[in-house]
Amino acid sequence: MSQKKKIVLVGNGMAGINTIEHMLKLAPNKFDMTVFGSEPYPNYNRIMLSSVLAGDSTVDDIVMNPYEWYEKHGITLYTGQTVTNIDTTKQTVTSDQGVQVPYDELILATGSNPFMLPLPGADKEGVIAFRNIQDCQTMIDASKKYKKAVVIGGGLLGLEAARGFINLGMQVDVVHICDHLMERQLDPTASKMLQEALEEQGMNFLLNKESAEILGEERVTGLSFRDGTSTEADLVVMAVGIRPNVELAQTSGIEVDRGIVVNDVLETNQPHVFAVGECAQHRETVYGLVAPLYEQSAVLAKRLADVETEPYEGSVVDTKLKVSGVDVFSGGEFIDTDETKAIRVHDEFSGIYKKVLIKDNQVVGTVLFGDTKEGSRIMKLVRDQVEVSQQDMNALLTGSQGNNSTAPTGLGTEHMDNADIICGCNGVSKGDICQAIQEQGLSTVEEVKNVTKASRSCGGCRPLVSEILEHTLGDQYTGSEGKEPICACTDYSHEEVVEAIREKQLTYVKEVMNVLEWKNEEGCSKCRPALNYYLGVVDPVAYSDDHTSRFVNERMHANIQKDGTYSVVPRIYGGVTTPEDLKKIAEVALKYEIPTVKLTGGQRIDLLGVQKENLTEVWEDLGMRSGHAYGKALRTVKTCVGDTYCRFGTADAMGMGIRMEKRFEGLNTPHKVKMSVSGCPRNCAESGIKDLGVVAIDGGWELYVGGNGGVKIRVGDLLATVKTEDELIEYAEAFLQYYRETARYLERTAQWVERMGLEHVQAVIEDDEQRQALCQRMVTALSVHSDPWQKAIEDKQVQKDLYEVIDAKA
Ligand SMILES: Cc1cc2nc3c(=O)[nH]c(=O)nc-3n(C[C@H](O)[C@H](O)[C@H](O)COP(=O)(O)OP(=O)(O)OC[C@H]3O[C@@H](n4cnc5c(N)ncnc54)[C@H](O)[C@@H]3O)c2cc1C
Ligand code: SF4
Repeated sequence: MSQKKKIVLVGNGMAGINTIEHMLKLAPNKFDMTVFGSEPYPNYNRIMLSSVLAGDSTVDDIVMNPYEWYEKHGITLYTGQTVTNIDTTKQTVTSDQGVQVPYDELILATGSNPFMLPLPGADKEGVIAFRNIQDCQTMIDASKKYKKAVVIGGGLLGLEAARGFINLGMQVDVVHICDHLMERQLDPTASKMLQEALEEQGMNFLLNKESAEILGEERVTGLSFRDGTSTEADLVVMAVGIRPNVELAQTSGIEVDRGIVVNDVLETNQPHVFAVGECAQHRETVYGLVAPLYEQSAVLAKRLADVETEPYEGSVVDTKLKVSGVDVFSGGEFIDTDETKAIRVHDEFSGIYKKVLIKDNQVVGTVLFGDTKEGSRIMKLVRDQVEVSQQDMNALLTGSQGNNSTAPTGLGTEHMDNADIICGCNGVSKGDICQAIQEQGLSTVEEVKNVTKASRSCGGCRPLVSEILEHTLGDQYTGSEGKEPICACTDYSHEEVVEAIREKQLTYVKEVMNVLEWKNEEGCSKCRPALNYYLGVVDPVAYSDDHTSRFVNERMHANIQKDGTYSVVPRIYGGVTTPEDLKKIAEVALKYEIPTVKLTGGQRIDLLGVQKENLTEVWEDLGMRSGHAYGKALRTVKTCVGDTYCRFGTADAMGMGIRMEKRFEGLNTPHKVKMSVSGCPRNCAESGIKDLGVVAIDGGWELYVGGNGGVKIRVGDLLATVKTEDELIEYAEAFLQYYRETARYLERTAQWVERMGLEHVQAVIEDDEQRQALCQRMVTALSVHSDPWQKAIEDKQVQKDLYEVIDAKA
């Protein structure tokens, strides 16, 4: 007879299996283990479902312990079986398939159930939750057949689901009851920035909306709200919260409140029965994130392995949104109160917002947007209730310490204990990482990730892992990972990728990812558009556009608006139009019942409310070129009337504006580019706040660059003064080409000029040889430009792929 202790685990999820992993390490031969799981899979990383939905991982990628792992450790696994009864007197469990197993110690780790709003119609086909592989698969399948998803819930899970739908090519509305997103983790500033960033990615938000009814016959067709409005939907995902899964415990006489009630060593009120994870309620709190669950697992494993342990006393949680292209982190307290003081960094140019709240000299919480590197470190200060000086905090937020580490003295990872958790998602401690580095000779973050799982999920702890590597390896640390990679799919920086494309003569997105051994072979919404752009700059002739790597507006060549219609902005060169063109625009607006015709701030006409299926016909009937109002390209060249009509004018501002717009239209740039031409220093065309603003002066022209009239106004710098119109074009060409070649994708000229330094840019542009060479390369780039609207009109396949509307209900 086996002398081993019989352990039964109910719930093959993240918390339960983490407990088992610890127990195997603490006492490898002491237990006889049996695991029951309702789902038909081995243990997988639920966090990474978002990544599967977004197309960044496959189901196989997210399996944490394959079937062989259970076999290797002699664990009996029953998948696809739900435990329906616990006999706490006889100490047995029984499954829905009649399997009965005795236990000495029982662990309940049954997780949570998604909360489904009890709306009328919630039982219709097409209404689902987002909790497991099955839900994820349902969404992926739906995207092949249907066009429009609605996600109810603007929290972490809802936003990750919505991002997935965009990647799957669906239109998505996110419905949220509050007026700002992730209100339980973000303050209004960060929330607004998040909303704007996600809108750029194509998400549509319906805020302050209370859902009333799910519409449709058998299958969902829409969702109505209490305010009387409604929206169409082919699929509705409810992501409004979770409830601990306590049914089994409840029916088996185990004490349950909101969750299964446990003490500080995770014991329930029944002898030999423990609970861990989302199903457990500890000191009145239930948790819905993995880091606290792993802290519980570590304590429970020690308790069961008879190893002395500190009690579990509760956790301070932090959250990171896993949406590529948007970095958001929040933990602890995040709303300013009378008792807190805040240290803030808010750089609207770079889209960075960082706030740390201090109460009685202690750090109590943080919100980070745009740059979340320091999230884990700040949370360590919160958890340890460390007192820090304002200077230290400033240094931490601004990275002003230099070197690889931005940590002020005393706050670096070298001062952490071995037991401190570095990777919250996977429960990896500093000690685990140091041990792996030393014992297995690891030298890069990638290797540490593969061996220990640290930074494998949300990636937030990557900077800390890198720092631990540096301290552990000392002189042998090569520092190859100190640079900023384009995104989590690669370790290469923007500059290195461009260099590699040039050197290896790469010509398409997939090839770059293959050759540079992208970690995520499909790439993500951050790197794919960047690669597509860089390829076009390096070799405009060999390059063919990968429209799947473009953001939705650019893919569609029209701006998608919040109601799912599109806006169409024809090009009006220099803001000068004709009665014929005005008439055409009016006729098109009437014919297609376009509800709104609006003059834009850039001297053009915006046709708003165009239906997707009418887009190509609207373009054809207009017979005008695209104004690229959606593009990372030249937008407008605004002009004043100049000397043609104005009595102050010294030059032909309209003529110059038209010439510039014709010259640069459609040119792909790292970000949108706006220009203007004023006929005299009175500057009526606002040339001081454009990416490239031109002002006529006596006997010549001044060129201002790096101006911005956006959220944070930046006045342009005087780049050069030239005499003739030809010279003006030459300087503008060289400036734009230099920007195209050296800016990082999505960097506006304002940021780029500041990063490069005006003097440097001036030196390059004023150097005759360099200027000529830049102009030459610009000529090549311009030689391949064609109008995207015309292409769509001529190409039936493009029309079918992008603009045809399939009536899935027919
Ligand atoms: C899409 C998504 C993204 C997420 N992202 C993050 C994130 O970024 N960061 C983060 O910290 N957390 C995230 N979470 C939450 C995280 O996944 C959970 O906190 C964690 O999985 C909970 O672990 P658990 O073991 O308690 O429950 P689970 O992992 O849910 O495991 C419970 C298991 O028990 C099984 N079970 C239940 N009852 C029975 C029974 N009677 N018999 C047999 N089996 C049973 C269930 O089928 C389930 O497989 C995310 C969750 C989702 C769904
Ligand atoms: S900028 Fe000068 S030329 Fe142009 S409209 Fe104003 S005053 Fe007239």
